[in-house]
Amino acid sequence: MRDLKVAKRALKLAGNCCEMDPTHASFLRRNGSSLYMEPHHLIPMSMTDYFGVSLDREQNIFSLCSNCHNQIHYGKKEAVQQMISKLFLSREQEICSILGRSITLQEIYQIYKVL
Ligand SMILES: [Zn+2]
Ligand SMILES: [Zn+2]
Repeated sequence: MRDLKVAKRALKLAGNCCEMDPTHASFLRRNGSSLYMEPHHLIPMSMTDYFGVSLDREQNIFSLCSNCHNQIHYGKKEAVQQMISKLFLSREQEICSILGRSITLQEIYQIYKVL
């Protein structure tokens, strides 16, 4: 199960900006003064059993604007690879530390089926 509080903390840690590019536009949330962003689990929650660890952790959750969030799920392979690479390299240590092992970009591309 996803913990909404964890996702909210992850967005706050990112300053409620898009981690692909902080200049990406969004709108103000109805309740509160922060920009609307969407939490994205870089290593998908569906891989929880495979890795045998909780993936619902701030270190694995990125703040993305709606457009980037849709692109990372539905965009062209090359674009998705670039996005994954940028996000992963910005937080490689933290992600490997929650996985308890190292992981390569190639492995993540395989998980996203963009190889
Ligand atoms: Zn997502
Ligand atoms: Zn964005």
